[in-house]
Amino acid sequence: MDWKKLSTTKISEVYKRLFLNQCYICNIKCQSSLCHPCHEGFPANLKYCQHCKRPTHRTRISCGQCQTNPPPYRTCIAPYRFEGIIKTLIHSIKFNQGTHYIRPLMYRLSKHLIESYPPESWPEQILYVPSHPSRIKERGFCQTRAMATQLRKNLKELLGEKCPTLPKHNPLKKIKNTKAQHSLSRKERLKSPQSSYQLDGPIAKHVALFDDVMTTGSTIENCTKLLLKAGAERVDIWVIARTPDKEY
Ligand SMILES: [Zn+2]
Ligand SMILES: [Zn+2]
Repeated sequence: MDWKKLSTTKISEVYKRLFLNQCYICNIKCQSSLCHPCHEGFPANLKYCQHCKRPTHRTRISCGQCQTNPPPYRTCIAPYRFEGIIKTLIHSIKFNQGTHYIRPLMYRLSKHLIESYPPESWPEQILYVPSHPSRIKERGFCQTRAMATQLRKNLKELLGEKCPTLPKHNPLKKIKNTKAQHSLSRKERLKSPQSSYQLDGPIAKHVALFDDVMTTGSTIENCTKLLLKAGAERVDIWVIARTPDKEY
């Protein structure tokens, strides 16, 4: 993160919360970064397709899309639906207004991951889906990098030596500055070429690929294919939230 580009207000907001033990969202006194009532308001992803975690009205083994076209990753962890307060917080982080929300969100994701993984099956390495360098320059930071760094910190405290590594230089690079995924139709997104991303650097056999939000899954699938082609044997997806279908 480029600290020079953060305003004094934002920095003082982070410090206020760090030293005064306040909930990062509602400011009430609280021992962790997120109070219980605020977390209760998060839209938990409780009913989903077992494979891609697409929110559905009842828990299903496999949604229609996974049946016709099984995704290349092994598992997907997505604790929330991309709506309500989660959508507001992630948008606010993305546009550099709410970087202090990274901490409570990553704290919750790390707790969820700890509950989801049996002790011996943790990935060796965390990689993240990056933004294009020109977008990073425009916004002053790469939100997925900032999030993955905080997530690794939280996991390290909980897992110690077993914690997956986070390479200093993420080997996954975005080389094409494509239109924002949310402004494309589903047809256009699936057409979106695999070559928007490139690998540069060594990757582990068992990789966790982090992204903030998973919408259609096409970016995640393209990056997973790239990792598998380059020698990864297993790719697990970690996202904060999964976008429900329009008919949800
Ligand atoms: Zn709160
Ligand atoms: Zn599915």
